[in-house]
Amino acid sequence: MTDTTTPTARRVLLAAPRGYCAGVARAVATVEKALEIHGAPIYVRHEIVHNKYVVESLKRKGAVFVEETTAVPEGATVVFSAHGVAPLVHRQAAKRNLRAIDATCPLVTKVHKEAVRFARDGYHILLIGHEGHEEVIGTSGQAPEHITVIGGPEDAATVQVRNPAKVAWLSQTTLSVDETTATVAVLKERFPRLASPPSDDICYATQNRQAAVKQLSADADVVLVVGSANSSNSVRLVEVALEAGAGAAHLVENVGHSDEAWLDGTHTVGLTSGASVPDVLLDQVLTWLAEHGYREVEVVRAAEEHQHFALPRNLQ
Ligand code: SF4
Repeated sequence: MTDTTTPTARRVLLAAPRGYCAGVARAVATVEKALEIHGAPIYVRHEIVHNKYVVESLKRKGAVFVEETTAVPEGATVVFSAHGVAPLVHRQAAKRNLRAIDATCPLVTKVHKEAVRFARDGYHILLIGHEGHEEVIGTSGQAPEHITVIGGPEDAATVQVRNPAKVAWLSQTTLSVDETTATVAVLKERFPRLASPPSDDICYATQNRQAAVKQLSADADVVLVVGSANSSNSVRLVEVALEAGAGAAHLVENVGHSDEAWLDGTHTVGLTSGASVPDVLLDQVLTWLAEHGYREVEVVRAAEEHQHFALPRNLQ
């Protein structure tokens, strides 16, 4: 049990920015707007964003989550998730006469366009990312003949390419900034003429959330990251916290999954949340911490964010 007799000795370092990014806010608003305009049910291919709370609350409003477009009745409305889809999925939807609304984050679309351009110019593209992640499947699908997925520095050291003079790299938007830098360094060593994307593929939200957690981790006995286990950017925040010196770090789906044992012997708790996590989930953890004596809250800000994305055109 945690001692709660000396509350003032305990504090929370609260990361900023944290929580919802502009792409997630847009994706959730897209489903809500589609429900408002077209009425329930609205079919959503895959989890709109990787957060169980968000998915369950949209289900209650009339969203139906499916794995594939083949599960959507002919002529119905389908929303594609923030992670993006391959062109093949758009073709499948058209074939079934579905009204498709694309909630792909514009920053994922940017990576799709880079993939198409590199493929058109004859490059072998090494896509740094997690094999099987929806975003990686969607990006690979832009130019399947030209893309090889690599996971990190080890894969970069061994991957075979068609022509070492014609290699480009791209990445998933939610990777660890430091690990991706290390992977690219290995690639550059092997392929001196390696072509890079015009700007970073790791998005602003991922970078800012990692920078904030990095900033507070050295002073934190434990860091709690609110987020789902299938949320890539949330899992990365746990890894970044540990690498940056946190005594321990845990992913917390919601306050119901928090464990008092994590607080044993701690005075400073770092707290953040992934880009797909609504504020309510973090606020509940903050309340739980206050109940355990961690009432002093200090915000550790790494960046200001003003990013906003308009809804998909067919909903405006
Ligand atoms: Fe877009 Fe980045 Fe948010 Fe993913 S994490 S939805 S790429 S802003």
